[in-house]
Amino acid sequence: MRILIIEDEKKVASLIRKGLEKENYMVDVTSNGADGLVKSHNLSYDSIILDLMLPGCDGLHILKTLRKGGIKTPVLILTAKGDVESRIEGLNHGADDYLVKPFAFGELLARVRALLRRSHKQQNPLISFDDFTLNPVSHEVKRAGAVIEMSAKEYSLLEFLVFNADRVLNRITLSEHVWKYDFDRGTNFIDVYINRLRNKIDKGYRKKFIYTVRGYGYMFKT
Ligand code: CA
Repeated sequence: MRILIIEDEKKVASLIRKGLEKENYMVDVTSNGADGLVKSHNLSYDSIILDLMLPGCDGLHILKTLRKGGIKTPVLILTAKGDVESRIEGLNHGADDYLVKPFAFGELLARVRALLRRSHKQQNPLISFDDFTLNPVSHEVKRAGAVIEMSAKEYSLLEFLVFNADRVLNRITLSEHVWKYDFDRGTNFIDVYINRLRNKIDKGYRKKFIYTVRGYGYMFKT
């Protein structure tokens, strides 16, 4: 699950990012409203956490533009403006929830989870191919009905492969999405993680999902 944070208070943004990453979410942060407006139109986000007072372009304008364009990504407004009128205005313009600063991270997490649950219930609660299932909300992965335990990074890598099923992804793309930093091409940690996934997902089954495309990268083949 990928979450966009549009927030110009560096401390707040960093606190939310760290907290969400700990919970296995992939997080992008932007501190500028104009940049946020562009990024928010990327449909790969499952949820957006939106501050209202932003440099470049205010949060309410971002929200209005999204909804006018028919983009329904769940939006949680995060703001210091806690008065009833501001809340009503935000919700009237298509926000899904509203949280007033200062807030407890636990409450933010609970609200984000609720948003993701609601939106995925409407769309696509479970991704399944044959006897393989992945639940992007609970992060539960099963093969032939058995739950497969995995680490946060293993899950993120698998989820990214599954979201891009039947497309070949090279190591750089995988690394950028899952590890979020440029990596030394000499390292083979992607291969190490792919092997771990193979052992967990494919080992012992006739049908394999994880394929190596020689010279290119890897693919989750359905
Ligand atoms: Ca602000």
